[in-house]
Amino acid sequence: MHEDKLTNWSTRTVTMNRKIIYGLAIALMLPLVYWIVYATGGIKYVYSHSMYIPILLAGIFFGLKGGILTAMVAGIILGPLMPLETLTNESQPVFNWVFRLLVFMGTGALSGYGIDRLKKSNRKARRMVLYNAETNIPNTNAIRALCNNLPKGPKTIATVLISNHQDIIDALGTDAYNKILHTLYMEIKNAPSTVHAVVQSDTHKLWVVKSHQHLEEDARILLSLINHKCFIEETPIYLDVSLGVNLIKDADACDTLETYRISDSLARDAQKQNLPYVIKDEYLDRRKSDYDLVSRFGESFFNEELSLAFQTQVNMNTGKPFAVEALLRWDHPKIGSVSPSRFIPLIEETKLIHHLTNWVLENAFKAINALMANDCDIDIAINISAKNLYDPEFYERTVSLMDSQKVNPEKVVLEITESALMVDPDKCKIILDKFASKGLRIAIDDFGAGYSSLAYLSRFPIHTIKIDKYFISQLNKEDSMVRIVKSTIDLARDLGYEVIAEGVETKENVRVLKELDGLYAQGFYYSEPVSLEQLLRTAVKK
Ligand code: C2E
Ligand code: CA
Ligand code: CA
Repeated sequence: MHEDKLTNWSTRTVTMNRKIIYGLAIALMLPLVYWIVYATGGIKYVYSHSMYIPILLAGIFFGLKGGILTAMVAGIILGPLMPLETLTNESQPVFNWVFRLLVFMGTGALSGYGIDRLKKSNRKARRMVLYNAETNIPNTNAIRALCNNLPKGPKTIATVLISNHQDIIDALGTDAYNKILHTLYMEIKNAPSTVHAVVQSDTHKLWVVKSHQHLEEDARILLSLINHKCFIEETPIYLDVSLGVNLIKDADACDTLETYRISDSLARDAQKQNLPYVIKDEYLDRRKSDYDLVSRFGESFFNEELSLAFQTQVNMNTGKPFAVEALLRWDHPKIGSVSPSRFIPLIEETKLIHHLTNWVLENAFKAINALMANDCDIDIAINISAKNLYDPEFYERTVSLMDSQKVNPEKVVLEITESALMVDPDKCKIILDKFASKGLRIAIDDFGAGYSSLAYLSRFPIHTIKIDKYFISQLNKEDSMVRIVKSTIDLARDLGYEVIAEGVETKENVRVLKELDGLYAQGFYYSEPVSLEQLLRTAVKK
């Protein structure tokens, strides 16, 4: 895009009109000066110097060419056409007016050249401010200019996010990536559709303003413009693009950065969910309340709003508990108690998850010590998020917490989900091996909810499989579920794992599970999660 395109049509018309007025004014000044000089007695007297005014003005307004041209006309007017003295009508010596003509031309040329240089460096500075130097695409500073005087009416605002930009840079280098981005920009901008503005707001992000038709339709139009496959020196490049598409009712809002915050957030959601686009709906309000919740959770550590509840895991044959699972509880003074299923996935998206797990470990270890002190020899199971596992400091931190609280590692079970294992199985194996060699046990939580097989899990140092509560809840409803649970119990046991059935709620559940040779269970049938005080009161003994 050429820079002048940032100056819109109406601005260009205004500039044109001004130039015509300046041109006319200068054209009138020339005969006016001629008349003054003639009326005051001819070129012999000083008034000829007033000719410098139109010459300088011509240089200022019309540059080098304008300055020289005006100087030539002025030199002729005050040259052969003007007598030395009007009274005697004596003409000037040729040398006289030729010299003056040259001085005039020099003056016009100097002022015009100076102004041209100034304009050029102005244009350069403006370009540096309004354009991204690497990609040659207008940046966010250019929005105002691009959105000036847009036709009234609603506009579709889209954020185009390139998810695999880092891969492209790593593989082909920054220059190639910038070329690709420029091609993409040109494809959108030059589309014969109603795209009003395209700017680059980040290395991997474009903002598009388009006249509004229908959000979903607009999203599809933009996607069709973005030719996902482009070529760099005959190498095909795949662009993984996610779109966030939003509607603004008033075109005037196009030039405020705040407008694009929403489409940015939608594009990030599309990226996370591997969707081609996400359009604005009530989803965004949920995002706000999610963010609110995360912010409030950050405060919860200081306000003593967190606590642990403990749910027993029992031997179905004896009915006796052998372990408790620590479950986090958050009781906010205003919003009340918030379910961990609601806030933990949100916290897992932030670094607060490290703080959270640390808090849980610390308090779970305190609990196990309190139970031991009450002659209650029981294991403790603690939920660990994927983010914790892959935190390089997690192992050391956990072990040093255990050491400082003098907790026997053999009393501790870490519950992790299959999906956490799958993030990076090799890395995960190294971490789990370290924990296992320290004496801790690993349980696979919600088994069956993911897609891994028991055979695949055998490479990890796993001690326990917890069958997801969904399977238990279906035991009495679907015959096939009975067979699935039976084969899971059998196979897991053959592979040397202990098996805990989760979500055991009824006597019937217990009966079926016992028939299937199940031994361990956890669920409301035996106990709801309770506070440490309640747990101590019921004096669970192994
Ligand atoms: P989970 O690890 O699968 O924990 C078991 C969940 O099932 C608990 O929900 C528990 O209250 C519930 N439950 C227990 N027995 C029954 C039953 O018989 N029927 C039914 N329908 N539900 C039962 P809760 O406490 O709401 O926790 C939900 C999830 O939040 C947990 O699922 C776990 O994934 C996560 N969570 C809880 N505490 C922590 C924590 O400290 N750290 C991490 N990372 N996650 C936690
Ligand atoms: Ca669990
Ligand atoms: Ca579970």
